[in-house]
Amino acid sequence: MSDQLTYPVALQELIAVLKQLPGIGSRTAERLALAMLEWPADRLSALSRLTGDLKQRVSYCRTCGNFADGDECRLCANPMRRHDTVCVVEYPPQVAVIERSGSFDGVYHVLGGRLMPLEGRGPEQLNLRPLVRRIESGDIREAIIATSPDVEGEATAAYIARELKGLDVKLSRIAAGIPVGADMAFADSATMAMAISARRPME
Ligand SMILES: [Zn+2]
Repeated sequence: MSDQLTYPVALQELIAVLKQLPGIGSRTAERLALAMLEWPADRLSALSRLTGDLKQRVSYCRTCGNFADGDECRLCANPMRRHDTVCVVEYPPQVAVIERSGSFDGVYHVLGGRLMPLEGRGPEQLNLRPLVRRIESGDIREAIIATSPDVEGEATAAYIARELKGLDVKLSRIAAGIPVGADMAFADSATMAMAISARRPME
């Protein structure tokens, strides 16, 4: 926006950074930046500290790849969960969606994406070996593949099924019902609950 050029450089720079957030356009970025200017200094310092430390404070679970506060995520560390049932998802936010649905009491495995050959994302870029090792260890009875119901998600599910072939684990795939092409990270909880409860066995 050319009218934003009348702002001091510090505001212009903040607006430019905020605009890089998903769903934030020029006008919203401008409103957010102006609101921050009105904030008390201690709240601004807190925001600065939180963003500055974010990457150091958020780690990845060494067992499942989910977001964690330290070495292990809260779900893997929770003895009340069913550790013999693992739900395989693409990204950590999907864990949050499934948790909100209240439809699953097992543990997770986060792949860190799905196979996207056109973008150069092959199996070696996914957190797959650790999943195979978890299953080889014999502690997992069922693996529910909850990758997206689009072409890449289905190809990823099929690839995982091939990798796990011959291992002593019951494989299932979440039911259709999530709109094809939907981003699983943002599927709503009710849809997710249905998709998990109506899962079907994979060969
Ligand atoms: Zn974990």
